[in-house]
Amino acid sequence: MVFAALALSIFLNSGCKKIAGPGAQAEYVLGTYCRIDLFENGNGELYNRLFSRLAELDRLLSANRDDSELAQVNRNAGLEPASVSPELLAVLERSLYFAEISGGAFDPTVGPLVKLWGIGTETPRIPPEEEIRVALDLVNWRDLEITRQNGGTAFLKRRGMALDLGAIAKGYAADELAEILRKAGIPRAIIDLGGNAYVWGTKNGGDPWSIGVQDPMQERGNYAGILKLGNSASIVSSGIYERYFTENGRRWHHIMDLTEAGGRRGYPAENGLFSTTVILTSSMDADALSTACFVLGYEKGLALARANGAEILFIFEDKTIRGSPGALEAFSLTGDYRIP
Ligand code: AMP
Ligand code: MG
Repeated sequence: MVFAALALSIFLNSGCKKIAGPGAQAEYVLGTYCRIDLFENGNGELYNRLFSRLAELDRLLSANRDDSELAQVNRNAGLEPASVSPELLAVLERSLYFAEISGGAFDPTVGPLVKLWGIGTETPRIPPEEEIRVALDLVNWRDLEITRQNGGTAFLKRRGMALDLGAIAKGYAADELAEILRKAGIPRAIIDLGGNAYVWGTKNGGDPWSIGVQDPMQERGNYAGILKLGNSASIVSSGIYERYFTENGRRWHHIMDLTEAGGRRGYPAENGLFSTTVILTSSMDADALSTACFVLGYEKGLALARANGAEILFIFEDKTIRGSPGALEAFSLTGDYRIP
């Protein structure tokens, strides 16, 4: 059996930038380990093309480098619209769609809050209430203006606002890689951009793909269960295990609650969930939905996923797993969880 995330734990410990295994290559890009397996069709030229594309997308979409196109939009916040490429524009357009339909649970202008907490950096901290309030005031997708005029521009209306596409960029990247594979006529492949997987084509012999769903409480590469999928699909998880730090005896993870409902706006979302996993053809949509549904919680999240044609699994802190009928049908338990 081939697990999409299987090699990841090995790569994480190796410290190497690029590892070529039999039929697979991995690189650290987009802030995560990205692994591509082209099986018998793997060749250096195609791997290079795919990883170059990822590096190009990092230069476009990264919130963590000064020279990205995104960083220019952030620098121009409150001053003037910045010119953006059709690609960045397309991701921003889709981000605004998900911000709107999720009632702001997913918000691409979450940047000031992400920076304030610093989760995933070397210096994370629990910020004082007052600083959270100030940062939250700068988070509002309605103050992001994009237009196709003048070659395409994006404008954050207030000084201090900042885009962060961490919840959707890897999905877009996975779709772009799948598009390269389609054009190259590659029959099957596995793309794994740090929990953002794409199984491309059909497995040899027509067997379904088996994709491990990370056990949120175990080391990477341990699964709560296995999803079996017949054909090209993206499988994207969001959870408390991707980036976090521990302080005051608690885990503070990287997905921010921007909803009014729980009274914990500006803090890591807390609604009894360990993780969400979304299955959909579009990896960009799956990525945005996995984050939005994690923030919204089970009932609203399930409805949102279904309304967008997605299958979804929710892993709860009480070690139960629930989800849409199609997802549950494709899923079998392997870890210490139960389906009520
Ligand atoms: P994901 O792993 O796809 O769920 O995305 C999480 C990342 O998206 C975080 O590391 C932040 O960079 C960013 N983020 C955190 N909270 C939100 C939110 N509520 N809406 C949009 N992006 C978020
Ligand atoms: Mg996401």
